[in-house]
Amino acid sequence: MLDEKYISKIVESVLSEMTDVNVVNEKRQLGVFDDMEEAIKAVSKAYKEFRSYTVAQREKMIQKIRAITLENAEMLAKLGVSETGMGRVSDKIIKHQLVAEKTPGTEDIKPAAWTGDRGLTLIEMAPFGIIGSITPSTNPSETVICNSMGMIAAGNAVVFNPHPGAKKTSNAAVDLVNRAILEAGGPENLVVSVKNPTMKTSDIMVKSPLVKMLVATGGPGVVKMLLSSGKKAIGAGEGNPPVIVDETADIKKAGADIVAGASFDNNLPCIAEKECFVISKVADELISSMVENGAYLIKGSDIDKLIKIALVEKDGKLVINKKMVGKDARLFLKELGIEADPRLIICETDFNHPFVQTELMMPILPIVRVKDIDEAIECGVKAEAGRRHSAHIHSKNIDNLTRFAREVETTIFVKNAPSYAGIGAGGEGYTTFTIAGPTGEGLTAAHSFTRQRRCVMVDGLHII
Ligand code: NAD
Repeated sequence: MLDEKYISKIVESVLSEMTDVNVVNEKRQLGVFDDMEEAIKAVSKAYKEFRSYTVAQREKMIQKIRAITLENAEMLAKLGVSETGMGRVSDKIIKHQLVAEKTPGTEDIKPAAWTGDRGLTLIEMAPFGIIGSITPSTNPSETVICNSMGMIAAGNAVVFNPHPGAKKTSNAAVDLVNRAILEAGGPENLVVSVKNPTMKTSDIMVKSPLVKMLVATGGPGVVKMLLSSGKKAIGAGEGNPPVIVDETADIKKAGADIVAGASFDNNLPCIAEKECFVISKVADELISSMVENGAYLIKGSDIDKLIKIALVEKDGKLVINKKMVGKDARLFLKELGIEADPRLIICETDFNHPFVQTELMMPILPIVRVKDIDEAIECGVKAEAGRRHSAHIHSKNIDNLTRFAREVETTIFVKNAPSYAGIGAGGEGYTTFTIAGPTGEGLTAAHSFTRQRRCVMVDGLHII
């Protein structure tokens, strides 16, 4: 007798392969070129054509990109996990839904005007032109889609140099975005990329006189490189977000929220809680709540063993073991000889522990007991280390909430919720996957990809 479950598993796997082949088949990918110079030539032609399009036409393209992203959320999520070996399919589906539904479109572009005795002056938000964008391996398709929507809404064209380790996923997104644009009556190759991105293709893109603005989403290396390019650049860099829990917080909820945020997509998001400072009095209760909500507590020598799994030595320093970034918690536990499948591993450490000081991007959360809010804030600020990225707190004390926000000076600051509320998941506000701390644009959207132009009419068009 044939086992029904077995057959449906085979059918499912064949169907999923067919979907991947249809979309990822490199020969048929729209906007994906063998050569960076060719890609830039093609996008330049598309941009010239796009200049004559109306804002309403741009909006139509954005709507189509929203729809195609929702239709392909699962395919892109699966492809991202299988290509990079990082993250969780179910969470990546949510990220795609978020990007499709909450990334701003053309409504984000707002003009300004002055009228008075001497006439009318207008400020309009013009496109920059062709934007060169470098994307990370941690959100490979989400960043391509989010950047494309914001950049196109603002009237630009885009050339991507995706992370080499996530090129298939990023290029599948480039292909889908182009399909949506064509369906909406837009030009061919408004969004382009290269099949095999390298440092060399990145260099060609950065130096091309046709590329007028640069955007980097990634670690400190790429942000530094773009900022020294001599062009207008937006840098969205690394984070190491602390979360504080004080004695006034709803501790049960804080435990649940922190597990949800720190385990989301296996802690890949740059905004995710990466170390926790809790006031001693409520530490046991917080840890119990975390365990009740899907965390696994390890102690003693297991913590020391975990250091050797999560980190490696490089030039006398401990750095992340790239092979373990974004892996499921169960794989770390397996190495420790523990059979369990939690969403998150938690452990108590001191402030100087490498788990606190390093942006791990793994489902491991170190918890440090502190005596009071002064020590919590001091530790939180030091762990964030001036990156100005994200920080979070659970408290009902307005003074504590305000003080930490003032002292840590991050771009995103979430109070009494999981970190992802900061990008619009379960919180107010729009979504972005490019959070520009170093260059100060904050949560980027269409308005970030514009240049102001002033138009002055003297002694006329002032009608009152
Ligand atoms: P990464 O820095 O390794 O790579 C990012 C991109 O930069 C890739 O396309 C890579 O090929 C390229 N790159 C790296 N160094 C370069 C150089 N010197 N010249 C040219 N290109 C270079 O990052 P990753 O591992 O893919 O992503 C994780 C990092 O990105 C984390 O530090 C995370 O915090 C950060 N991140 C930040 C944001 C944000 O919005 N601020 C969003 C996602 C990820």
